[in-house]
Amino acid sequence: MAKRYRHMSTCVRYSKLRFVLHKRFAKTSVFPAQPFDLNFPTQYHVTMPTVAYCTLGCKVNQYETEKIRQALEQAGFTTVPFNTPADIYLVNTCSVTAVADSKSRSAIRRALKLNPSAVVFVTGCYAELEPDFIRNALGINHIISNLDKETAAQKIIAQFNTDSSVQSIVCATEKPVPQLRIRTRAVVKVQDGCDQFCSYCIIPHARSIKSSRCIADVEQEIRSLATFGYKEVVLTGIRLGSYESDDSQVDGSKYHAQKKLPDLITAVAEIDGIERIRLSSIEPWEVDEALLEAMKSAKVCRHLHIPLQSGDDEVLKLMNRPYTAEQYRQTVDAVRSQIPDIGITTDVIVGFPGESERAFGNTCALIEDIGFSRIHVFRYSPRERTPAATMPGQVHAEEKKQSAEKLISIGIDGQRRFAKSLIGKSASVLVERQVSGSNHLAGFTDNYVETRFPGDISLRGQVVSVKIVAVDQNCAIATMQ
Ligand code: SF4
Repeated sequence: MAKRYRHMSTCVRYSKLRFVLHKRFAKTSVFPAQPFDLNFPTQYHVTMPTVAYCTLGCKVNQYETEKIRQALEQAGFTTVPFNTPADIYLVNTCSVTAVADSKSRSAIRRALKLNPSAVVFVTGCYAELEPDFIRNALGINHIISNLDKETAAQKIIAQFNTDSSVQSIVCATEKPVPQLRIRTRAVVKVQDGCDQFCSYCIIPHARSIKSSRCIADVEQEIRSLATFGYKEVVLTGIRLGSYESDDSQVDGSKYHAQKKLPDLITAVAEIDGIERIRLSSIEPWEVDEALLEAMKSAKVCRHLHIPLQSGDDEVLKLMNRPYTAEQYRQTVDAVRSQIPDIGITTDVIVGFPGESERAFGNTCALIEDIGFSRIHVFRYSPRERTPAATMPGQVHAEEKKQSAEKLISIGIDGQRRFAKSLIGKSASVLVERQVSGSNHLAGFTDNYVETRFPGDISLRGQVVSVKIVAVDQNCAIATMQ
């Protein structure tokens, strides 16, 4: 067997579609006909191409890879792990930081090394921003734009196949697909794009066009997820808070105007079988009364991830973030006054150009004062084409490291304080896994505290009621109720 085909999976029963697809593959220059035996006996014995996927970055990327994977599987392709030789690789890249760029390049190189004869497709934000490098330096010809991701599976198949029956199967999978799972939650992308242009952020250069899925479409997907047993959905987008759809074309009687995130949440909360709705991230200026009202539904998790980025007004201005530290604090106060015990998590950037000792001190003070239940600390890294990359006052790497360490430590204290504040209270936990070597289960409360308690693994995927009795490190210890 030729080298190119040694990774293909073997099947013994095949549909007409797969037979046709197989023959088409055999006719292309990429998959030369020679290794295939096209004189099938009464029972077909054919091989199909294997595909390996590597996804970097955000939940939106993960969702999009899943959609492509499912469409290709429905068309007969076989998924294999990324670290194994495959016939086709799909690398869904990220460019949010310089590290993400580097990881994206490494993943592409790894794919080429794993099987030099493979066909490598590259998509995602790094591909959007550096197509010339990917083409010229890495030798990749198949680059799929973010805007074309919805039809990426068709493009991959079309590379090998022009048969209309195959095309129609792939078209059918553009509809909502079930089984998009990150741990035991289903991630549902409802929005794409951002035009805020924060001065450090490259994302609007890669995904500037904003779009939102209509509510009816999202409802349909989530109903399908509920039938597959999912209890929790995470609504996600590049800038979720800017969700705004026009459903008038879909259902004039029910949805007749521009709909925003609170409308979407309310609609999703009506779906039977879904017990939890979680929001992935929301900008501080997008938290308003309507959102808090919608979050009062018992199904909506008492958790908001609200990126702070800095607690210093001068730095926020340089970042082109449209709020002050005081406005951020007031937003948090408003949220807490309406939703008791809500977990508020955040992102912070340290070492932004011009961040003085005093400015960093302001950030530390605000974070200590607010008491986040979890923080993610990022060291600023210049992104070419963004205004911040050429700003004066770039901060030395060592200083960034020390600032990051200090903030991480403040963040851990806050995380522990928040978990301790829940001792003696009841909570619901979505069971995700068994703690290795013990009879304890682990999962997250709706306000996003990792919780462990004795129980049977048959509860995985279920939402159970517990009472929090102690805190060990940053983890809540509970008993089932
Ligand atoms: S809001 Fe700012 S940080 Fe977030 S994606 Fe848009 S530009 Fe980037």
